[in-house]
Amino acid sequence: MKTAAIIVAAGSGTRAALNAGLPKQYARLGGCSVLAHSLRTFCDHPGVDLVLAVINLEHQAFFDLARQEAASGKLVAPVAGGASRQASVLAGLDALAGQNVDRVLVHDAARPLVSAATIDGVLAALETHPAALAAVPLADTLKRAGEGNLVAATIERAGLWRAQTPQGFRYPELLAAHRRAAMESAAEFTDDAAIAEWAGLVVALVPDSNANSKITTAEDLAMAQSAVAALEPRTGTGFDVHRFAEGDNVWLCGVKIPHSHRLDGHSDADVGLHALTDAILGALGDGDIGQHFPPTDEKWRGAASHLFLADARERVAARGARITNVDVTLLCEAPKVGPHRPEMQRAIAEILKIDVSRVGVKATTTEQLGFTGRREGIAAMASATLLVPA
Ligand code: MG
Repeated sequence: MKTAAIIVAAGSGTRAALNAGLPKQYARLGGCSVLAHSLRTFCDHPGVDLVLAVINLEHQAFFDLARQEAASGKLVAPVAGGASRQASVLAGLDALAGQNVDRVLVHDAARPLVSAATIDGVLAALETHPAALAAVPLADTLKRAGEGNLVAATIERAGLWRAQTPQGFRYPELLAAHRRAAMESAAEFTDDAAIAEWAGLVVALVPDSNANSKITTAEDLAMAQSAVAALEPRTGTGFDVHRFAEGDNVWLCGVKIPHSHRLDGHSDADVGLHALTDAILGALGDGDIGQHFPPTDEKWRGAASHLFLADARERVAARGARITNVDVTLLCEAPKVGPHRPEMQRAIAEILKIDVSRVGVKATTTEQLGFTGRREGIAAMASATLLVPA
């Protein structure tokens, strides 16, 4: 199942007070652009395989900066947008043709605070429906204005939702619907779910948060800036040691490696993942691995250590925090870590649901000094940097 995300960033909507004449997707928001936030969240999501931005080529330089800020190998070369949002999305869909994409998510760049949980929700809905969109049930009473801003009517609110993005679709069906709409419909569609509806597809609503609102005014931008500014960087460290015992393989950083011994421990003794789990817990100030998974508890005997790391990831999410990067150093004479490094980085990125470029794995011998040098065991140290709501 290959999933692409199209980030719609071609708009040239500028409000003088907002961004010195630049479109809002290039406004600065906590150290990077609004667009970079959107790109990064999709690039970091493990359910997304490639990310394509649709831009106005006049803003190529600003896009290039956002691309550096998002720093992900999933980001492909951008394509030029059209005269309308609808035309821009179609340009993105056309650019994906021939890439064997099964599902596509379409997202407005100007919704920089979209969460991984919202993307999860839309992807989950696509398992059972041909189309799905993030949306918020209306909380306010609606009035229709008549002449001179006098109320002409109160509109029944029950059953009304505000459409947000991402909106997800089976790629071939959305491409066909868009191409047909471009040929046959005189109406201008303001979102892709409306095109799916027009084409007769069933569209599911996925409850979303107000935090994923679109930045349109200077006030919206100021609110997003204060939400982002309230995040403070925090770093934690972890250290762990396991001794060798009789066996023929070791688990290191989520990867099983043939070896002359195994590592001894209550769980699978993955010393790298244990140090990393403690680093994340340390950054949160939330105890340590031994407190959450006591070795006295039979439940964790032989447990796969990715469970511990996934638990730490859930604790990060529950705090509204985000992992910026993690780094693990293994200390051992053998086995050789280098050949397994890419697989270890991938394993950790997958468990933490972050891009592989945010994961460091390194190894060193200790020059045959100490217990690691005598090949009695393996030690690991790790650090994790998080953005945590203050
Ligand atoms: Mg341990």
